[in-house]
Amino acid sequence: MSGSDVQADVPVVVAGAGPVGMTTALALHARGVETTILEADPKDRDRPGSRAIYVHKDTLRTLETSSPGLGHRLVDNGIIWDTRRTLFRGREVFERTYPDPGGDGGLPHFTSLPQVWTEEYMLDAVQDAGIEVHWDDGVETVESSEDGVRVETESGETYHAEYAVGADGAGSTVRSEIGSEFSGTQSENSFIIADIDEFEDEPLKQERVFHYDHPRVDGRNVLLVPFKGGWRVDIQCKDTDDPEYLSQDEQVADLVAKTLGERYRDRVDWVSQYKFKQVIADTLVDEHNRVLLVGEAGHLFAPFGARGMNSGVADADAAATRLTAALSADVEDAAEAEIEHYGIERLKAAQYNKRAAGQALEYLQGDSVVTKAKKYLAAKAAPYYEPAGEWLDDAPYGPHGGPPVNIGQY
Ligand SMILES: Cc1cc2nc3c(=O)[nH]c(=O)nc-3n(C[C@H](O)[C@H](O)[C@H](O)COP(=O)(O)OP(=O)(O)OC[C@H]3O[C@@H](n4cnc5c(N)ncnc54)[C@H](O)[C@@H]3O)c2cc1C
Repeated sequence: MSGSDVQADVPVVVAGAGPVGMTTALALHARGVETTILEADPKDRDRPGSRAIYVHKDTLRTLETSSPGLGHRLVDNGIIWDTRRTLFRGREVFERTYPDPGGDGGLPHFTSLPQVWTEEYMLDAVQDAGIEVHWDDGVETVESSEDGVRVETESGETYHAEYAVGADGAGSTVRSEIGSEFSGTQSENSFIIADIDEFEDEPLKQERVFHYDHPRVDGRNVLLVPFKGGWRVDIQCKDTDDPEYLSQDEQVADLVAKTLGERYRDRVDWVSQYKFKQVIADTLVDEHNRVLLVGEAGHLFAPFGARGMNSGVADADAAATRLTAALSADVEDAAEAEIEHYGIERLKAAQYNKRAAGQALEYLQGDSVVTKAKKYLAAKAAPYYEPAGEWLDDAPYGPHGGPPVNIGQY
């Protein structure tokens, strides 16, 4: 143990049973560390929207190693679309179909399914592992000291732990309890995001399509992404749009009919409109190196490039590794160094992801003469010079590669 004098009820308390909190608990369980999850919502909650549909191979690998079979269960219940297509003002400028799903170790490059299913499978794994989840009892206060953490919940329960992990999402109580604050920016444009139910008979071809200046929806950018059972339609509002008006049922049905097809008009399952935040907490660990922030408790990125849940799962994996090492350290300084290291490495990863998602956003929102001219010239050149079309296809998702985080396209 790390030299603490406190009698801990459990080595690690995790706040939040979202995908990142559950992954943290599973990754710790796989390393022999016991945890308790405290969740604010009731167990029978309804989580809206398809959200993190693009699950990257690094995420699948982490889930598979944390709970054997879990990564494969996501793959078996997801889809792998094999074609990327881009159009510019009604004309195709790029198309590529991949002969195989790529990936390694028996897991493909990605899979695509609604986040609620991913969470359902994670919860099954959590229950199979015997990890306790206390529903409907959110964390209210977190007090850390050199010796450990005291967590109090809404119902007045108190938990003493060696360490606590804040996986309690964007409005994290744990983040504010350790005095860490978000800073960053917000997208200028709003985006309308809708989930559409697919037909079992004669479904559309499963391909990811980006359409620049779509002529049927007054020149707005449109992204169509398939996932198991449905489609994500993502429409970038113009500066002059009223997003409230555009996200009304009738308007969305019209936008969907014009982009996905008339027969999808009445298949809208969920709609939302967003301005995307690009923010990072100023620190991901508390002053005593006893509390760690993971996932959206620590950072929010625009979704282009699918860095949300994927980078949160990478946080969870790193947190589990560092916590396990800290808990088995004989020297307190060594334990502290592990947690400090988590704070540094994942802050750097978050900064990388924020920059990458920011690059995608800047590109999508860019309406300077130079940016517009570059897109226009690339579209002109695309029929004769494939890299120009490929650039148009790639740019809306930001750069590939980067820190040991999961970068993908959705
Ligand atoms: C439209 C949209 C599209 C997206 N697309 C993608 C994508 O394609 N790929 C991708 O990777 N990501 C995507 N994301 C992001 C993804 O949904 C989030 O990154 C992910 O849900 C974050 O997981 P989390 O566990 O950190 O937080 P959450 O999912 O928010 O979970 C936090 C949990 O903590 C609980 N909680 C809150 N307060 C407390 C408290 N005080 N005590 C205890 N529990 C508490 C909450 O009830 C919740 O269960 C998308 C998001 C949106 C909105």
